[in-house]
Amino acid sequence: MPDSTETIHPRFDDLIIPGARLRHLADGCVWAEGPVWMPDSSSLVWSDIPNNRMLTWSEGAGASTFREPSGYTNGNTLDREGRLVSCQHSPGLVTRTEPDGTVITLADNYQGNKLNSPNDLVVKSDGSIWFTDPPYGILSDHEGHQRESEIGANYVFRLDPDSGDLTVVGDDFDRPNGIAFAPDEETIYIADTGKPRNLRVLTVNDDNTLTNIREFAAPDPPASDGFRVDARGNVWTSAGDGVHVFAPDGTLLGKISVPEEAANCEFGGPDGRTLFITATTSLYSIDVAVTRAPRP
Ligand code: MG
Repeated sequence: MPDSTETIHPRFDDLIIPGARLRHLADGCVWAEGPVWMPDSSSLVWSDIPNNRMLTWSEGAGASTFREPSGYTNGNTLDREGRLVSCQHSPGLVTRTEPDGTVITLADNYQGNKLNSPNDLVVKSDGSIWFTDPPYGILSDHEGHQRESEIGANYVFRLDPDSGDLTVVGDDFDRPNGIAFAPDEETIYIADTGKPRNLRVLTVNDDNTLTNIREFAAPDPPASDGFRVDARGNVWTSAGDGVHVFAPDGTLLGKISVPEEAANCEFGGPDGRTLFITATTSLYSIDVAVTRAPRP
């Protein structure tokens, strides 16, 4: 059996557990995305977008349906209060699941025009929700329902969940996708799955504007979609052949091989040191030596 990890730079050996093997936890998906660890239930929730459902997995119970239909939900995360916040393709919404299970809409339009199909999101320490809005859920009926874009652009938005105000924070992306802050929230990483297809980094200013956009990494194969940042600031990004790990300076540290195309990953597990990977039909995991970045 081949090794699951490949060290490119010696620093990678501090992030992984020698001999750790990839586990195959669940299958049956068409395009698995949006993994989020739910500490209260020690479970992993993720999206199976084309099947219009969300699934859940725990060590004891295995995999089962979490929500169906799901409005073609894609990315998921937790807010500061531990509530599930999600990007929904059809109709295009950002939603929050309340503790009693009620799903409420936080955003569905920008200046009166429907959102395209919110893809992935992250919550900042001030409670604001930053999300990407590419057209993947409206290009065809595969991951939603085909229609014309009312906005006519693919923006990155900042949402104030209290006022409902939406602000464009990124207008120079082709198809913005994965999004995550560095641990100090002074920089933000955003993947573009359009042209050029790469992972970019931007400076977050005190007024929540983004400037100084530049390429952070261009994984090979070029398929950075969703990603997470660990406590040391390293970026763990999906790539065509698994998960690639980049240091904050952009150095490629190492790779985790996955037998299917990976779309996203998430730190979780009882001690936070399990990396869950959504990859095409399946959910995988591997034990690692680092946790996700705590919020400032
Ligand atoms: Mg995505």
